[in-house]
Amino acid sequence: MAAEDSWSGRLDALRALERAGRWDEVLALGGAFWTDGHLHAPIELAMDAALLSARARANLGDLPGASAWLKEVLLDPRTAEASTALTDAWVLLAGLLASSGDGPAAVQAIQRAVELLTKNLEDTGLRQRSYNGLALAYSQLGFGLHATRMAAEAVRLVPPSSGDLGGQVRRLNLAMMLTDMHDQSADLPDSERDQDWLAQAQVQLDLVEPELPALAPWVRLFHRVLDAGLQRRRGSVEEAIMALRLATAQGVGGPDTLVQHVRQELAEALALRGATREEARGLAETLLREIRELPGSATSMWHLENIALLARVAGRPDEAYQALARAMALTRRNIVAFLDTPVAGQSALVDAQALRLFNVELEQRNRELSRTVQDISRAALFDALTGVLNRRGLEIEFGRVQGRGAFALAMLDVDHFKAINDVHLHLVGDAVLRRLGALLQEQLRGPDVVGRWGGEEFMLLLDGAGLQRATSIAERLRQYIERADWAGLAPGLAVTVSIGVAVGGSEDSFSQVVQRADLELYAAKRAGRNRISPA
Ligand code: GH3
Ligand code: MG
Ligand code: MG
Repeated sequence: MAAEDSWSGRLDALRALERAGRWDEVLALGGAFWTDGHLHAPIELAMDAALLSARARANLGDLPGASAWLKEVLLDPRTAEASTALTDAWVLLAGLLASSGDGPAAVQAIQRAVELLTKNLEDTGLRQRSYNGLALAYSQLGFGLHATRMAAEAVRLVPPSSGDLGGQVRRLNLAMMLTDMHDQSADLPDSERDQDWLAQAQVQLDLVEPELPALAPWVRLFHRVLDAGLQRRRGSVEEAIMALRLATAQGVGGPDTLVQHVRQELAEALALRGATREEARGLAETLLREIRELPGSATSMWHLENIALLARVAGRPDEAYQALARAMALTRRNIVAFLDTPVAGQSALVDAQALRLFNVELEQRNRELSRTVQDISRAALFDALTGVLNRRGLEIEFGRVQGRGAFALAMLDVDHFKAINDVHLHLVGDAVLRRLGALLQEQLRGPDVVGRWGGEEFMLLLDGAGLQRATSIAERLRQYIERADWAGLAPGLAVTVSIGVAVGGSEDSFSQVVQRADLELYAAKRAGRNRISPA
């Protein structure tokens, strides 16, 4: 057998191992191929083997290791003789650098890949692969529009009826990016809208399964995520949860990051549905622990945005805010790297719209980020269970009325709440708190506000109220709560509250008046509960 044939035989064997998902072997044998062959084997073949090894390493979860390996390979002077494999290498490197959080280096790798690609524009296969790889890199850098544009470009080159597996995966990829992009896809031409691609993705699944068994679980997982994304956008949270539960039940075969993505979507969907908040929180906590252990979790945009989302679901707005602030700083860094990079090569690919698109991208990204900041600020001031202000929110409200004159605080505590939990279970207890929050909210007038002070205690801040008005409001609320239809929540359930009222003037601090209200509450409890004090 000629020497070259034996090299290509070895490469075929490696490809077969990759298709079977045997990453450990691909990693080791691909590395050995490069070491043995970089001086003697045809350079395209040796580089292909090195690329297979890098991809295997990435699939095993070591992104920084994979990009370090590729950089080393690219230092070899012989790689300059390669053309297709060299472009592939830079595209892959761009994706790996973007995923491991090195934005500026990733942008440079993208640029290098684009330059090489413009010399090979007649190679359709290479263009498909490259556009798709660049789409992934852009998406990791947080540039959704660029990503979708590239993914659409990759798909445009695949005839719709083609049985080509790579093409099918690319369609799924585009569909996924479009669902992630939500309304951003409105900026794309109609034919590229997500519904279209989702419908196509559905068909692809049936084609991929029998042809490539190693890929099938992954594709199925992908498909469920798409389905869930679509359901959520239609407002069917239950359907989305169902799709995601199915995905996690079968998700063992897929790459870790995708499996994690599915569980994360599930946590978010569960959090949207209040009743299973506990489950959402538990899932979010587990995922947060896992993500923090990943290399590059503190520097990757992808991880940081996920951490922000999960921390929010887990009820830790401060942590969410911090992760998001870091992600914003990285975005800024990536944008600067972008602006320093000439766009000529890129516009050859994505036509003259590149710059316009980039501006839209920045605007979109700013809008998205400020929306998230608003969400988080809201979460920081409002109680997750009842939706009324939390203690911090109350303090801020107090800051607004402070110094303006008279005000009153009414501290409200559920009577024998522990017994309610014990007799009717914790879920009913939660429902009581939620309904109480809603009742108080709807009964209050004008400038008065209500917040949850803690556990089963609520605080009313009555702006401008003297003792008489405050006690009459408190008594009205007490009676209203006593007469409300609680048995609708659980048979035999009755709920009463005790309320302590205290007034303050412009010279009083919040905590002083809180203390007095607390003493009055204690007096109301001692006097037999279901009453206010002073009466
Ligand atoms: P009292 O009439 O003296 O106020 O008696 P109590 O049972 O209401 O008071 P205690 O402070 O002994 O019990 C408060 C209970 O509230 C204990 C705690 O488990 C429960 N609780 C606190 N936060 C929550 C919550 O978010 N949900 C539910 N279901 N229960 C909670
Ligand atoms: Mg209490
Ligand atoms: Mg109580």
